[in-house]
Amino acid sequence: MATSTSTSTPIVIDDLSVSPDHYIGGRRVPSASGFELHSPIDQRLLGRVAEGLDEHVEAAIVAAQQAFPAWSALTAAERKPVLDRFAEEIGQRADAFCRLESNDAGVLLSRMRHGVVPRAMLNISWFAQHALDLQNRPIETEQARHIVRHDPAGVVVIITPWNAPLMLSTWKLGPALAAGNTCILKPPEWAPLTCSLLADAGHAAGLPPGVFNVVQGTGAKTGAKLVGDARIARISFTGSVPTAKWIAQAAGANLLPCSLELGGKSPFIVLEDADLDNAAATGALMYRNAGQVCLAGTRFLVHANIAKQFVAAMRGHVDKLVVGDPREEATEVGPIVHPRQVERVHGFVQRAVAGGARLLWGGGPHPFGAQYFQPTMVTGLQQSDEIVQNEVFGPVLTLQTFGSDEEAIALANGTDYGLGGVCYGETAHATAVAERVRTGFIWVNSFGIRDLAAPFGGIKRSGIGREGGDWSFEFFCDVKDVVVPK
Ligand code: NAD
Repeated sequence: MATSTSTSTPIVIDDLSVSPDHYIGGRRVPSASGFELHSPIDQRLLGRVAEGLDEHVEAAIVAAQQAFPAWSALTAAERKPVLDRFAEEIGQRADAFCRLESNDAGVLLSRMRHGVVPRAMLNISWFAQHALDLQNRPIETEQARHIVRHDPAGVVVIITPWNAPLMLSTWKLGPALAAGNTCILKPPEWAPLTCSLLADAGHAAGLPPGVFNVVQGTGAKTGAKLVGDARIARISFTGSVPTAKWIAQAAGANLLPCSLELGGKSPFIVLEDADLDNAAATGALMYRNAGQVCLAGTRFLVHANIAKQFVAAMRGHVDKLVVGDPREEATEVGPIVHPRQVERVHGFVQRAVAGGARLLWGGGPHPFGAQYFQPTMVTGLQQSDEIVQNEVFGPVLTLQTFGSDEEAIALANGTDYGLGGVCYGETAHATAVAERVRTGFIWVNSFGIRDLAAPFGGIKRSGIGREGGDWSFEFFCDVKDVVVPK
């Protein structure tokens, strides 16, 4: 809830202290209005975070505009050492990043330490290196030499969701900054702390004032104001479909390119010739981060002949999952980010069961605490059922069976989403099925292998555009053909 008190009291968690203020033009800027931040672990009040008012949005846009000429005039080679230092400064603060995101978003501390922080560093340094290869890729023809330039576009607005704020913010900031743009990051209001610390890391690295700005605030107020401004050049958004529709309209009004990475309802296909133990072990990973992972395979499609064995095998893994405090090393399933989200997740399960679906396991709140939910599997469903068609974004999976590859593919493709997928089976067979599933990416006999050079994004309602490797630069740059006749 917004209040009229100053928000400059640092947020203190154990021995950590982080600014609740904006970071604009190289300095911290408090707000006359703030909102409360609670931890999903135990609902305790973490502190008050600055609400981005119109004056802060204005100041950030002006700061980013003023910083643009000098930053964009540097070569990629000149920007690289500053960005490498930025990555190092993230590494210097690794412990703080891990603990802050664990406390405000409920992300597993172990996952932060071993996965997210190293990846955040790489998101900055990898794109700084990759930008070196971008300039002046000539196309030679008999008639002319085409010098294909990737020029920075201008002020970029980056908007990220609460389930992976550090990972997703750096995934966009890395290429945007490396390409020579200046950036304004609007962090998620349910998990804003690591983005605030990111500003400290950028500051310590010597990013010039205005090159990277953070404006905290809610989506409806601060986010909407930012994306509606005609002075910005790009909007890079990761979040939900309803928000993306608003953002696309705002971008449309100013004819601004926007990249939209959205939700998923990805199939997890288990073919008759699959290695069931491997498939079941991977299946249980879908509960990681309490199922709040956009790319998780959440719709299990299992060949009817092996469904019984698969369910038994997966149950064996699920029963061993440790649900609990994300700060504990042994925990595998942490809390759901917000009480509103707990209600939403529970509502999906209750309506499915009321409609005749059966629970294979789980189904309700977990005794560990108010925002914990049992790993759940729902079956006995029709393809048109709400829980099959809509993203739950919690530890709730569905299971349907099929009798042929054709049927599996039809079920896999039978939602409005098209983000990712998983397909287990004999490799050639699974690859052939995977190739016919309509999504932006799909893993064969594996899950979660990512490479920064590879394209990432969804089709249908799961998004517009691709990020990663050259695709990020295609989006964040004005691509220009300088034609020199021979
Ligand atoms: P959300 O759409 O509610 O919010 C995302 C961000 O948008 C937040 O920072 C929010 O403040 C901001 N926002 C909200 N309204 C806005 C407006 N009118 N104008 C500008 N900004 C606005 O999403 P969420 O609940 O935070 O995140 C969960 C969603 O994100 C899920 O659907 C999930 O699948 C998706 N997601 C997708 C990916 C991907 O890479 N495809 C990755 C992670 C999460």
